[in-house]
Parts: sequence; structure tokens; C-alpha cells
Amino acid sequence: MQEKGTISVSTENIFPIIKKFLYSDHEIFLRELVANAMDASQKLKRLAAIGEYQGEVGELKVQVSIDEEAGTITVSDAGIGMTAEDIKKYINQVAFSGATEFIEQYKDSDQGDSKEIIGHFGMGFYSAFMVADKVKIVSLSHKEGAEAAQWECEGSTEFEISPGEKKERGTDIVLQVAEDSKEFLNKARLRGILDKYCKFLPITIELDGEQINNTTPIWTKSPSELKDEDYLAFFKELYPMSPDPLFWIHLNVDYPFNLTGVLYFPKITNNFDLYKDKIQLYSRQVFITDEVKDVVPEFLMLLRGVIDSPDIPLNVSRSYLQSDANVKKINGYVTRKVADKLEELFKKERTAFEEKWESVGFFVKYGILSDEKFYDKAKNICLLKNSEGKYFTLDEYREHIQAAQTDKNENVVYLYSNDPDKQDAYISSARKQNYDVLLLDNQMIDSHFVGSLESKIPNSSFKRVDADTMDKLIDTGTEKESVLSEEEATKIKEVFEKTLNNNALNLQVEALPTDELPVVITVPEFMRRAQEMAKTSGM
Ligand code: ADP
Repeated sequence: MQEKGTISVSTENIFPIIKKFLYSDHEIFLRELVANAMDASQKLKRLAAIGEYQGEVGELKVQVSIDEEAGTITVSDAGIGMTAEDIKKYINQVAFSGATEFIEQYKDSDQGDSKEIIGHFGMGFYSAFMVADKVKIVSLSHKEGAEAAQWECEGSTEFEISPGEKKERGTDIVLQVAEDSKEFLNKARLRGILDKYCKFLPITIELDGEQINNTTPIWTKSPSELKDEDYLAFFKELYPMSPDPLFWIHLNVDYPFNLTGVLYFPKITNNFDLYKDKIQLYSRQVFITDEVKDVVPEFLMLLRGVIDSPDIPLNVSRSYLQSDANVKKINGYVTRKVADKLEELFKKERTAFEEKWESVGFFVKYGILSDEKFYDKAKNICLLKNSEGKYFTLDEYREHIQAAQTDKNENVVYLYSNDPDKQDAYISSARKQNYDVLLLDNQMIDSHFVGSLESKIPNSSFKRVDADTMDKLIDTGTEKESVLSEEEATKIKEVFEKTLNNNALNLQVEALPTDELPVVITVPEFMRRAQEMAKTSGM
């Protein structure tokens, strides 16, 4: 008996629209079909586990195969399968309503923005029509006495259901690949897609008989089962070209949202690329995206690794994502975990922590700069390094300098250098007077960090060592007699004015009694900072 029917939707031409909107991400069809096959397999496992399926479970692998001659790709599973009734219900009604809903939502949106939405959009079964002009389902349900069923659809709203020829439980989805999608008949291309999306799926996936996935990636295991080597090996698997990470955090929470993962702190080198090796987002071990901008706080994007959560809504727009309650909770959770880990390391192994500070510090500073709340969590582990290579916490440092280094407004003066080679003479001059000088010489971040610290630490004033003469920067309370007479000072000034021949300079002559430098050129802090700001903001 053969039955014909019409899928009841208002949109006649659903497939051209699917094609158009999913254009940049055609390859996702394979992820969707494999994910469905995986779901069907896991459902069967569960039914067997609770005694609702008594048959032989067997090996539940998912097989992807290419028949180049016939121009087909087949995705087969040994999962629960579907009867003709199931197909009518799940494919014609459920799946199709999902597809029409999608189109309703996006047909009017302009392409620019919608691409991003759709990159994450699980179109499910109907995404097969992005690459196929004909799709066939042949399925044998696990239900006792079920008969095989076949469904065919040629990319219009018409479909055909008939009895199928299938002896083994499960489902074959056969795609007749369209002329403009022939690239997907290439095995290397398919392998690339499976590697990207299905590399860590929990059920064996084979491409032409070869297993492509690791079914138990480390984030699915318990930390107690894992050694450092396992974490390092997994990092290498994710980012083969990158140096070993410094340390990592194993995430595992199931309430109030479900999230697992492993986050790594990368080693930050001079040529560290913020935008390479990104965090990968998974949902139940299926790769979704490495655009996690809206899911993790900006500064955590410096981290590497994997986050797996079925609770991150993926089929919604980005502005919605940012306000989503789960995403907010996830953000908060990850931030807290990271801060806790840093604190633990600092408390347990301060020396090791200091050794890693070049990299960790970049991250902590970036966090403090970009996330208001992070400062409260990180202020106890944020270190400052002085010109002698000693590390202090913020509190320790204040304690260290506050007796000797204040200005006339009773602010504690934090002297710093951002270029110890060029500022060497100033540093040693300060050192000779027993003042301490900080090194804040990370060009990528420290000029902003200085300003941020100054605003966060009450009664603090950050001055670069050449911001003024030492006894102007630091008020020692003792008036110093000038050793120059006014006349001498004027003469010296004239000599310099002539030699420098630059009206823009504001020349002052004074004797520096405690300073061994005969002449200093200073640049007022506020002026220099204004210039730096102008430079970094491209003015
Ligand atoms: P979703 O997977 O998001 O529910 P789909 O459009 O991908 O939507 O699929 C719709 C339904 O069709 C699934 O929920 C499932 O019931 C059924 N289905 C799809 N593929 C298979 C398969 N390989 N085996 C069994 N059932 C399937």
C-alpha cells in the first residue's frame, strides 16, 4: 500500500528559503543527521535499560557512507527507528513545524545579522535539504512486529510513504546530493565536517567503516580518574600547535544548569593570538561553535578548552543570548570557578604562581579591566612585580611603600616603569633614595591597568619614574635647600634652551641634592597618559 500526502504548511517553497538562509553553513546538515542518529541510539539504550525493549541491543554505532557513483550520502543508525506512523508524526508534523517556524522567524530578517543566528540554529532533519534534492528515510522501528517504512521527499511539500525494505532495526537517511553540493560526496570533505562537529560524540561514528570519534573525551570523566598527562594530551588534541597550558579547571555542575568542561590557561607569549585556539562550545558532546562571545565573559575568552552545556539556547539571536538567565548564571559560575582556581594556586604554591604571573597576570589584569566584579574576586591574588623582580600582593605592596612614599596630598605614591631599559637611570635614582619602583611593562595592557588600579585603590597615585623629579613626586617632609643661586639657575637654563632649541618644552632648572643625575628630563604623568590614551584610541 502506498500513501501520498501533502505536508500542510503555508510556505510552498520552503527549501529555497532553507538553502538561502543556511548558505554559509551548509555543512551543518551532517551534524544534524548524525545527532539525530545518536539520539535514536541513546533512546534505544535507555529503553533497554528500563526494560521497555527486550530485543538484542547490539552495537549502536552510527555509520556515514558515500556512494559517489549514485551520488548519495547515507547516515545509518541502529536506534529506535520509526514506523510509518512515527514518520508521519515526527518528520511530517514535528520536524516540519520546526522548519516552518524557523522560516517564519527569519524570512524577513536581513541577511547580515541572520547568518550568525543561523550558524547556531539546529534545523534538524530538514537541513538535509540544504545539500540534497531528494531525501529518503528507510526505517524499521524497535517496536515488536513493526514493519519497515520508507519516506521520500523531493524538496517540495509533497512526500510519499510506502513500505520499506529493511531487516535490521534502525534508520537509514539517504541523501541524493544536489548538483551544487557535490563537494559533500568527497570523503575528505565529509571527514573534515565529522572531525569538526562529531569528534567527541558519545556513540561510535564511522565514515566508510573508519571510526572518527573519541566517545569519552576527558570532560565527560571525573577529575579523580584523570592525571595531568590526560589534560595535557587533550589540550594537544584540541590545539596541536600551541605550547602547553599553565593549568586547567575541570568544570562540572548539574544544578541549576547543566555544564561540564575543561578550561585551560594558555601560556601567553609575545605573539599570543587572542583570536586563535578559541574555547569550543558543545551541547551533549556535539560541537556547536567556537564563537562563545555571548556565552562567556569577554576576559575569559583568553582561556582555551571546552564547555559543554545542553542548557545554552543555541537557536536564538545573540541579543537574546546575552540576557538569557542560564547564560548569565553560566557566566557567573565560570567566573567564580576561575577566580577560585587562581586563589587556590596562589595559596598553595605561591612560588609557582609567581613564576606563571607573566601569563596569569595578563589574564587577571584583563579581567579586572573588563569585569567590574572580577576585581573583588581577584584583588587578593593580583600581584605587582618590582624592579628587583620581587612579587607583592596589592596589600603587601602598600604596606611595603606607604611609610616612605607619599605625596603632599597624602596619597601613597606608586612609582612604576613601563620601559626599564629606557628608564633605567630614573629607576636607579629612585632606588638610591630607597624608593621602590614597580615594573608595569606589558605594552598590551599595563597602561590601562595603571589607570584602573589608581581608581580602585583609595588614596593611591601612580607615577611613572620620570613623571617629575623624585622630591616632587614623593614628599619627604624635609625642605631642601637649593645649592644653586637664582643667577646660576638662569644661566644654566639659557644654555639648555639654546641647545635644545625647542619652545614646546617647559624647561625648569633646579638642583637635585639627593639625586646623582646631573640633569633629568621629566614628562608629567597626566600629559603622558593623555597622549597614550589618544594613541591607543586612534585619535
Ligand atoms: P529534533 O531532532 O530537533 O527533534 P528533527 O527535525 O531533527 O528535530 O527530527 C524530528 C524528529 O524525527 C526527532 O525528534 C525524532 O523523533 C525523529 N527522528 C529524526 N531522525 C531520526 C532517526 N535517525 N531515528 C529515529 N527518529 C528520528
